[in-house]
Order: sequence, then C-alpha cells, then structure tokens
Amino acid sequence: MSGENGYLPEPKGFATAAIHAFQDPEQWSSMAVVTPMVASTTFKQYGPAHYKQFEYGRSGNPNRNVLENCLATLDNAKYGLCWASGLGATMGIASLFKAGDHIICGDDVYGGTNRLFNKVCTKLGLEISFVHETKIESAIKENTKLIWIESLTNPTLKVIDIPAIAAIARKHKVLLAVDSTFVTPYFQRPIDFGADLVVHSITKYINGHSDVIMGVVLTNNKDLYDQLKFLQNSMGIVPAPFDCYQVTRSIKTLALRMKQHMKNSLEVAKFLETHPKVEKVLHPGRPSHPQHELYKKLTSGCSGMLTFYLKNASLEHSQRFLSSLKVFTLAESLGGYESLAELPSVMTHASVPEDQRKVLNITDNMIRLSVGLEDAEDLISDLQQALEKV
Ligand SMILES: *Cc1c(COP(=O)(O)O)cnc(C)c1O
Repeated sequence: MSGENGYLPEPKGFATAAIHAFQDPEQWSSMAVVTPMVASTTFKQYGPAHYKQFEYGRSGNPNRNVLENCLATLDNAKYGLCWASGLGATMGIASLFKAGDHIICGDDVYGGTNRLFNKVCTKLGLEISFVHETKIESAIKENTKLIWIESLTNPTLKVIDIPAIAAIARKHKVLLAVDSTFVTPYFQRPIDFGADLVVHSITKYINGHSDVIMGVVLTNNKDLYDQLKFLQNSMGIVPAPFDCYQVTRSIKTLALRMKQHMKNSLEVAKFLETHPKVEKVLHPGRPSHPQHELYKKLTSGCSGMLTFYLKNASLEHSQRFLSSLKVFTLAESLGGYESLAELPSVMTHASVPEDQRKVLNITDNMIRLSVGLEDAEDLISDLQQALEKV
C-alpha cells in the first residue's frame, strides 16, 4: 500500500502477459509480430476428420484461441471461453443446468442479467431467487446449483465479499460465478478467492474502446470448461474473428488504461466530495465509501466507476446537469476511454421496478459516471460548469 491515493495496483507480470501470452510470433509461418487475423470459416483437413487444429469457425478460430488463452492467463485461470456478448456468456453458464435446478442471484446485478435469468431462464424451467448478499446461505435449497454475484454492483457500487460467499458455496457444494466486469482482472482475480467461474463483459473495460460487444468465462475446472466449450459451439454464441483481433489489441493497454481510470476517477471523486451541490459520492477507492476497507482487502485498485447524488435535486435538475456536460458524453455503457455520464433511474435501470429502485436508492438525483482517460482537469472543469447550471 503506497502512493498518494493510499494504494497502487501492481499484480506481477500482468502487462507482460497481456502483451505476450500465447502470442509468440514463431507459432505463425509468417513470424508476424502481431497475431494475424484469420477470417476463414473453414480449415483444410489432411484427410477426412483428420485436421491440424481447427475445422470450422464456430467450433474454433485462431484469433479466438489466442484471446481466450491470454484472458485466462490474466485472470489466473487455466481456461477461457469467449462469447458473442457478456449476456451470451451468462446464457452459456445458465445452460449448464436443467429444468428444476435452482440459481441464487445477487439482488443488485446488471439489469440484463436480471432480465435473462428472470424472463428467459425461468421459461426454460430454471428456478431463480434474487437474494441480498447477506441472505445467500439461507436461500440455498436441495436443488441449488449456482450462486451468481457481481464483485462490485451497479450503480450502487456495493462491494461483495467474494471469499465469504465462496466459503458458503464450497460448504454446500454449489458453484460460484462472479461477474467482475466493474473491477477487471487487473485489480481483482476472483478465481484466487475460490470462484468456480469468472465472467466479464469484455464490451466494457477489457476492450475499453467502445467498439466491440463480447463476453468471456474463465475457469480452472476442466469439466466445466469442457461442458461450456460444448455449449459455446452447440448454441453458436461465438464472437467474430475480427472482434477477437480487436480485443487482443485492446488488452495490450489494459494495465495502462486501468491505472489512468483509477487516477482520474479518484480525482473526480475528490472534487465532487467537496462540491456544495453534491450530497454524496460513492467510490470504493475513497475512504468515504462505507466498504472502503473491505474493498482494499479484496482488490489492488479501482476502475473509473463512480456514482454521486445531487443535493436536493429533482429529475429536472439532474436532466439539466447531464445535458450541460460537454466533455462527458450522456450515454449508457461504461469502461471505454471516453468519459460517460448517465441517469440510472431513467436509463440503465429504468427496467428495475420502482419499489426495488427505492430499496436500492436509485433515485432521480443519482448520477453514474464512467470516468475515462481524458485529462482529469478537463473532466473536473466540465463537471464544475455543469453543476453551476443546476
Ligand atoms: C454490460 C454488462 C453485462 C452484459 O454485457 P454485454 O456485453 O453488454 O452483453 C454484464 N454484466 C455487467 C456488470 C455489465 O456491465
């Protein structure tokens, strides 16, 4: 723990792995330093059913293969599987189970995950319970097969104690899946805490350039990997080779980007904490966050996500603030190099029923920021001028 902000990230060898793991140029006949893009959907066979490594693009592709192995290395996992989206990855995991099986899901998860479990998986006969993280153990039943949590929730940025929940999962012989999209493998590796499956929406920080939709599942469990690999191919939820190529390029700067997201978001949080028009700031890397100590124990740093409440503000005030921003873009999503701002109550979390929004404190004066990689001074002066308009 050192540095101005109390702690700095330094997982050993992360950047080196992102740049080199599984990308030795000597494996290609061209000796290309950059992994060549292979668009071919089919691969020549020596004889019937006798092929070198790949046979058909849905079953496997060189670019996907490189990316999956490299991402596994970054998350300290043995196996990785990429999917056409984060939700595609989630659907793959849900498909490990059969009608009558029970899944326990955190009550404060990504809206699309909630919708997939609640509106699609239940139709296929899975039983789903949305449960507060402190009530997980008492929700386990005979048919419970999976616990699904997020390491840092959205938009309330609640910190989930992964080792504690992993212990419960182990005790009851239930699988644990952790969606760590908001934290990234640069700051936290849930496998090290006992998670069986780790999921990221690559769309967010891992790609980081807001131009690819993709998801990944990481695991150390060979049996789960084999089952998921079968499902990935059988269900056809696969990413395009070009997108894999793009993400392999993006992760070369993941370490650099995350350091800067952390630095910028902490500066923005500090500024907002002192502003008279701001009621409260939620940023897990700031001592003002109620679970700051737990967060420090579980991670080596924080991403660019922060949420704050405008003081005595109505929906109209929040709208005026957001429409006045010039450097921040008013848009959904997160994790890209560009700073984004949004109003969860009417945008990303509009589908959460009003009474549940109240419980979670997702009010009309709650603003979520994805702090990007612009100069922090520019971001702060943009927020300053927009706050003046409220
Ligand atoms: C965006 C997101 C997802 C879904 O990912 P897609 O790539 O959009 O399908 C899942 N979990 C979290 C936490 C997310 O932010």
